[in-house]
Amino acid sequence: MGNSKEVLKTGSSLLLKKLLASSVGLVIVAIALVVIIIIGVISGSDGNGNGALIGGKALPESVMQWEGEVLEAMERHGVDESQVLLLLAIMNQESQGDIFYSNGDIFQSSESKCGYIGCITDPIESIDQAVKYFKGVLAKGESLGVDIQTMIQSYNFGGAYMDFIASNGGEHSEDLAKDFSMIQVQKDPSYNCNGNTENFRYPYCYGDFTYVGKVMAYVSDGNMVGDLENFGDFVAPVSPMVLTSGFGGRDSPIEGASTNHKGQDLDCTLGVSPIHTVKSGVVTHAGTAGGLGNAVVVLHGDDIYTTYGHMSSLTVSNGDEVEQGEQIGVCGSTGVSSGAHLHFEINVGGMWGNQIDPYPYFQK
Ligand SMILES: [Zn+2]
Repeated sequence: MGNSKEVLKTGSSLLLKKLLASSVGLVIVAIALVVIIIIGVISGSDGNGNGALIGGKALPESVMQWEGEVLEAMERHGVDESQVLLLLAIMNQESQGDIFYSNGDIFQSSESKCGYIGCITDPIESIDQAVKYFKGVLAKGESLGVDIQTMIQSYNFGGAYMDFIASNGGEHSEDLAKDFSMIQVQKDPSYNCNGNTENFRYPYCYGDFTYVGKVMAYVSDGNMVGDLENFGDFVAPVSPMVLTSGFGGRDSPIEGASTNHKGQDLDCTLGVSPIHTVKSGVVTHAGTAGGLGNAVVVLHGDDIYTTYGHMSSLTVSNGDEVEQGEQIGVCGSTGVSSGAHLHFEINVGGMWGNQIDPYPYFQK
């Protein structure tokens, strides 16, 4: 009996040890998961112009002036109008919409039409050819099952890049773009960046392996970023929303600025971009606020406050009731700030010092 008890005891303590070991394992796994999720959220919300989460930089007026003509061509060729910003971003990359600089071929689409540069000198023809070519790229890309980034890069590299990616996993990456560029350089050594080893592309001198990133800086997942677009419960405080610094730890950009960033920094134009309240509410602060410079705080009920910092001027006063999307001030760089931007915060349960990550509030 004693023996079997002993065995039982040993057995149960072994079981306990195993359980303990496995629960320690579980805890480790759980912690690891939480860390992974947190890292995912931070890196996700910390994107700059390349981030697909919030969207794009504003395209210059020299490009936007062609929007109507591009939309017309898209209608002619049956390309979905949701792609208009992507096409305009490509034009921006090719010529910034400048007729003089591009000799009329604002999409640099001559090569796709006649095999050499310069056969198109009319911007409307350039647009038409570009849209037609882009439609072919989309069709081929979809039939090959490659991602949109691959299709965009192929506008720079040519259609063979889509075949290359299709046989290498179907997803564009800068490394694969470099590989493709190198293969072309080996085929034709005249692609040598004019022998300039200081060129950022060197030795990947065929095309521009960074083309996708440059184009995607202006679009969000290939979709248009509209004015004051709705993101979940909130409208954008500044349009377009371009996140330059996310919530959480960061290297301080300037002396005196926090390294534990308590809000989001959004790009805006000094003295020009209107700043809007993300939701209706009551203004509970309108004036200077330490490092935040000229700042406005709006209470939205349920103890949720939003804060808008560094503005050049304010257009509301303490106690004002504001509607969702109403202007509260103008973009600036007041307080502790390295340049024009909007510092945006959400505080829950108190007006100051109760910041939470705004990122989930802007999820569609
Ligand atoms: Zn900030």
